[in-house]
Amino acid sequence: MQPTDKLNRPLRDLRISVTDRCNFRCVYCMPKEIFGSDFAFLPHDKLLSFEEITRLTKLFVANGVEKIRITGGEPLLRKGVEMLIKQLSEINGIKDLAMTTNASLLRPRAERLKQAGLHRVSVSLDSLDDNVFMTMNDVRFPVSKVLDGIKAAEDVGLTPIKINAVIKRGMNDDSILKMAEHFRNTGHILRFIEFMDVGNSNGWRLEDTVTTEEIFKTIHSEWPLLPIDQNYEGEVANRFRYKDKAGEIGIIASISQPFCHGCTRSRLSAEGKLYTCLFSGLGHDFRDKLRRRQSDHEIDMFIKHIWGNRKDRYSELRTEETNFQTKVEMSHIGG
Ligand code: SAM
Ligand code: SF4
Ligand code: SF4
Repeated sequence: MQPTDKLNRPLRDLRISVTDRCNFRCVYCMPKEIFGSDFAFLPHDKLLSFEEITRLTKLFVANGVEKIRITGGEPLLRKGVEMLIKQLSEINGIKDLAMTTNASLLRPRAERLKQAGLHRVSVSLDSLDDNVFMTMNDVRFPVSKVLDGIKAAEDVGLTPIKINAVIKRGMNDDSILKMAEHFRNTGHILRFIEFMDVGNSNGWRLEDTVTTEEIFKTIHSEWPLLPIDQNYEGEVANRFRYKDKAGEIGIIASISQPFCHGCTRSRLSAEGKLYTCLFSGLGHDFRDKLRRRQSDHEIDMFIKHIWGNRKDRYSELRTEETNFQTKVEMSHIGG
């Protein structure tokens, strides 16, 4: 039997982080002061192997998972990740196999990723202005290379492509309109994400979050928008289409309009810990079970037990105080 949690939510999504490392230092995710040259990233033997991930994924699919997202850190830094994608693409029951990437390494890999069975990519890009983008990624990575990665993904059919932009007040809020203009009529779906209080290292303050309403008004005043229905129950983005038929955008309102009631997502960290909420402090250790050679039945029971007892609804309970709870870092579990 497939489990539902204490709030009657089924398990549908598994986000798999394949590395905790990244070649960017986005200020809202891996600030340099904390993730500096002396930061202790996981050694290779502590990461789940591709075989371990595939075995676990099969058991999660048997428990209801239909959507898989490969993430990180930067997932394309994990050597041979195409091999993992090939293994996952052969599992019956997966309807959606996607990857979230900063696209810095996408151009030379796009073809192989597609051939391995990846369905589509979501690319993170916070501004089209080099000065703003370089300030945000903090490694002086230029916009043009990300756009080139997006083009490579488009050319090989890793579509529909979603472009994710985190908006931080005073940093890139004046990039919203230019981003919208650029991606209108491209078929790519631009999604704005409210800056969130994930982890404990990004110095989050409520006043730095640009709300969905503000983002909506900014675009709507230039190009009128109409709301559209969710694609599926539990979808995170508020969806809108341009009245002039130039395409669709999404706004992810995790701060201003929490959506925990429909949350069917679980997240597996690179070292094999399962988090049932983006804001959890505690992960459930699957690597230990795998390496102690527990049977599929025992691991299946562990999944059912964890999900069956889940009560998470952090965003609905968020207060100034909850920000100081110990929470897993975004770069550890991948958004
Ligand atoms: N490195 C890949 C990338 O950036 O696409 C994948 C991992 S990254 C942690 C996944 C997503 O989390 C990105 O779209 C990023 O913008 C988002 N993210 C990271 N920190 C965030 C924060 N504090 N608030 C909102 N979104 C955040
Ligand atoms: Fe790296 Fe992605 Fe985090 Fe930026 S958001 S630091 S690209 S993991
Ligand atoms: Fe899901 Fe936790 Fe986010 Fe709520 S706060 S939507 S339970 S991940």
